[in-house]
Amino acid sequence: MLAFNDGSYSSRATIGADGGFRFIFVSAVNFEIPVRTESFRTRIADFVEREILPLEADKASYDGHGNIALPLLETLRGKAKAAGLWCLQLKPETGGVGLSKVDMAVCYEAMNRSIFGPVVFNSAAPDDGNMMMLERLGTPEQKQRWLKPIVEAKVRSAFAMTEPHPGGGSDPSMIMTRAERRGDRYVVKGRKWFITGAQEASHFILIARTSDDPRHGLSALLFHKDQPGWRILRRIGIMGPEEHGGHCELEFDGLEVPVEDVLAGEGSGLMVTQVRLGPARLTHCMRWLGLAKRCIEIARTYAAERSGFGQLLADRESIQLMLGDLAMRIEIGRLLVMKAAWELDRGGFARKEVSMAKIQVANVLHDAADVAIQINGARGYSKDTVLEWIYRYARQARLVDGADEVHKMVLNRFLNEEGAGFWRWHVEAGRQDETGRGGNR
Ligand SMILES: Cc1cc2nc3c(=O)[nH]c(=O)nc-3n(C[C@H](O)[C@H](O)[C@H](O)COP(=O)(O)OP(=O)(O)OC[C@H]3O[C@@H](n4cnc5c(N)ncnc54)[C@H](O)[C@@H]3O)c2cc1C
Repeated sequence: MLAFNDGSYSSRATIGADGGFRFIFVSAVNFEIPVRTESFRTRIADFVEREILPLEADKASYDGHGNIALPLLETLRGKAKAAGLWCLQLKPETGGVGLSKVDMAVCYEAMNRSIFGPVVFNSAAPDDGNMMMLERLGTPEQKQRWLKPIVEAKVRSAFAMTEPHPGGGSDPSMIMTRAERRGDRYVVKGRKWFITGAQEASHFILIARTSDDPRHGLSALLFHKDQPGWRILRRIGIMGPEEHGGHCELEFDGLEVPVEDVLAGEGSGLMVTQVRLGPARLTHCMRWLGLAKRCIEIARTYAAERSGFGQLLADRESIQLMLGDLAMRIEIGRLLVMKAAWELDRGGFARKEVSMAKIQVANVLHDAADVAIQINGARGYSKDTVLEWIYRYARQARLVDGADEVHKMVLNRFLNEEGAGFWRWHVEAGRQDETGRGGNR
């Protein structure tokens, strides 16, 4: 089939049974992915199948916190680099290949078919979101000092925003950690918690209050672990497997940060968090879809070989309904993720699109693990499959980077502001309709 674009519609020419051409006009909305993206997807899928999946069943592959052991990770990262599958999300000049967000949605899903996948390709949280943010907002000097070593996997990074009560959590306006300007530096006092990766990280991005201005009161400060004036109070025990470096509680008591290590200038902290968290929430969803599909894969394999009461599980309508429902809900999640990715790619903030994707995918991940455990019976509750790992991990998805309720509150705010416009169609820019008027009115 030929496809080309003739203006407001794409035309496709097919050859009919009589040998003549037929033209079909199709709307410009399309769900095709570029050939290059498909090529990355298949290479990632092959790598995951061949190099990573077999390791999941071996206890020796794990560190003490349920993640991939660091020496093994280093070997696999070397192989991913050699295969040209490293930091694909970053621009070529930063060390990646410049995947768009839509491309990333395709690739990240393929990476997370394995619980170990994303970190092997340097596409796991929190480094993934920190790198993209530094790439977008850092000065050339900041990128050289703070970003390059993360891209090269010489160091890890952490993003420190959330605080224990009565500080800022869901509501960033409650942030209490203070960075007071003294001459050419800021002096930081305060407390943070649940900071992913802090025990292994060297580069930190800290959100602190530099004034009481409601919109411009926060700033993002960069610091190195070896700078004095801060410490890790504890690594917080959690119910799920942990990222390398855990989730830590930090205390700041006189950390000094030079003015040149403020990201995007004093007072830009809220903007920095939007730039960091919008795409980072979405990349979580991209990865979680891969995990949700893996749950279905494990459930289908078992249902296809296990029988009882004279029938294969896969032939029972009750099982078919569970799996069919999950397949549909995963696809809804993929569509929401793709729409948000598309909106980010065209320069929007995708606030409501990201919120919808985050709620949908976090919940479907949780339910996919739950249903897959149910279908696997006792085996599902054991450590013989990765289902229990995914189940424990999945519970955090409905809390991190905005709890479900907060995202629903955001959606309702858009509904109040936009009314029926909440569901508006985006009309192609620069195209004209039959009256001669352009799009996007
Ligand atoms: C595994 C894990 C990793 C994390 N990693 C990081 C990290 O690297 N860096 C970092 O800064 N933070 C991190 N966090 C913190 C995370 O982002 C926060 O937990 C999250 O933003 C919610 O904040 P909170 O825990 O203070 O909840 P709170 O703000 O105390 O809210 C508690 C609950 O109240 C309800 N609620 C809150 N607001 C509303 C509302 N408006 N309407 C209705 N209900 C509401 C929700 O159910 C919510 O779950 C991590 C957390 C976890 C669990």
